[in-house]
Amino acid sequence: MRMENILAAVLAAGLVFILVALLRPKLKDRRGGADMYDFKTEREAMISRQLKDRGINDPLVLDAMLKVPRHEFVPEKMRGRAYEDHPLSIGHDQTISQPYIVAYMTQALELKAGAKVLEIGTGSGYQAAVLACLTRNVFSVEIICELAQAAGKTLARLGYSSVRTRCADGYKGWPEEAPFDAIILTAAPEQVPQPLLDQLKPGGRLVMPIGPALAQDLILIRRTPSGFKRETLLPVIFVPMTGEVKKTP
Ligand code: SAH
Repeated sequence: MRMENILAAVLAAGLVFILVALLRPKLKDRRGGADMYDFKTEREAMISRQLKDRGINDPLVLDAMLKVPRHEFVPEKMRGRAYEDHPLSIGHDQTISQPYIVAYMTQALELKAGAKVLEIGTGSGYQAAVLACLTRNVFSVEIICELAQAAGKTLARLGYSSVRTRCADGYKGWPEEAPFDAIILTAAPEQVPQPLLDQLKPGGRLVMPIGPALAQDLILIRRTPSGFKRETLLPVIFVPMTGEVKKTP
């Protein structure tokens, strides 16, 4: 009789153990993933091998890249690959850019604290989060409304609540908030949208990919007192910019 009681107690304890083990990850998920693995080691390796070794040296940009949890901006099944050295799919045929390119473009903007920056192509919201580490005034436009909404939610959940997002064709910029100290495009048109040039402050910087698929360059346009100065930075591969820019000759 006593033996049976002991057996029953052992069985019950085993059952409770199994139930707790099964439920724990679900409970953690529901709390917003706060206890989940934070990929700090992967982020540190990314900073040293993909960024510093290739010449990214702005301490504020490196710090932003170290802080922003890139894995939170990719689909859940791809979290383990978030810090790899290439772009990743985020659905709707769109991609989150390679970490190096995000850092490179951010560095090229030379943002000062408080600068007003406009991003065209919110996508996952990752680039916007990186920008938000450098300035409070980030505005980001995305043409695919589902992506704009999802990015807005991710940014709010992770505390990047200063970023303002909107679903619209970025061709027109964000006229109500213009002019901007910096503008960044993360989709490639074949020519520079005129409204974006118009919305750049004197002394402002625009960094964007330009050109047809497989023949794109990253360029920097500076607005100087004597006009716009254009500089080619490096060859890149971005998704094409869609919307109005496709219709302009
Ligand atoms: N910056 C993003 C990467 C986005 S990929 C990130 O960090 O994840 C480029 C994005 O530009 C896509 O989401 C695409 O839908 C968007 N896009 C393309 N054409 C656009 C346009 N005309 N206006 C606004 N967004 C555009």
